[in-house]
Amino acid sequence: MGANDMWANKTRSLLAKENVKMLNLIGSPGAGKTALLEQSVKKLSRKISFAVLEGDIETKNDAERLARLNCRVSQLLTGGGCHLEAKMINHAVRDFPLRHLDLVVVENVGNLICPAEFDIGEHAKVVVLSVTEGEDKPLKYPTIFREAKAIVISKIDLLPHVPFKLKRCLEFIRNINPYAPVFKVSVMTGKGIKEWIDWLVSYAGCSKNEKK
Ligand code: MG
Ligand code: ZN
Repeated sequence: MGANDMWANKTRSLLAKENVKMLNLIGSPGAGKTALLEQSVKKLSRKISFAVLEGDIETKNDAERLARLNCRVSQLLTGGGCHLEAKMINHAVRDFPLRHLDLVVVENVGNLICPAEFDIGEHAKVVVLSVTEGEDKPLKYPTIFREAKAIVISKIDLLPHVPFKLKRCLEFIRNINPYAPVFKVSVMTGKGIKEWIDWLVSYAGCSKNEKK
């Protein structure tokens, strides 16, 4: 953990120098992290300048999905590791043209446990929970829900078809994390996407027009 934190701090100071914010997107496999990013890429590209780091155990599939949308993206493979580590993030971040970026979004390996515990140099963690999961996930994995600066409930278009109890889930979240904004989104219908994008833009703190 000592070396990991050292790399994480290096990354944070590098990003601070270039005035770039970095988010660590965490969720179970299939929560819809990449789909959310695909929607975000389409809406964000006119507002801020950003890049994505895709973390997976194997395959470049997710980076390819985003590259098709002309997103600046690199794929990191852990080769079996269940979370991203700060050193690999540091190397990947240094390959981006940071001077021209406002925001880096890291999609962590699908897992709610250890990605919550490994600092990768981000400024904030964002957790994605889909309505095809149990509404008690915040109770089962309190660490990530407590630490998250924003919480996304995805696939809400499926609510009529699944037993997920949205109201209970929101209560569970509020007991653990009273302040983080909760975005209820559907990438299929576009519902809630505008609010999520507005948060991302304000979190990034400046638009590319302001950046020289
Ligand atoms: Mg993915
Ligand atoms: Zn792990």
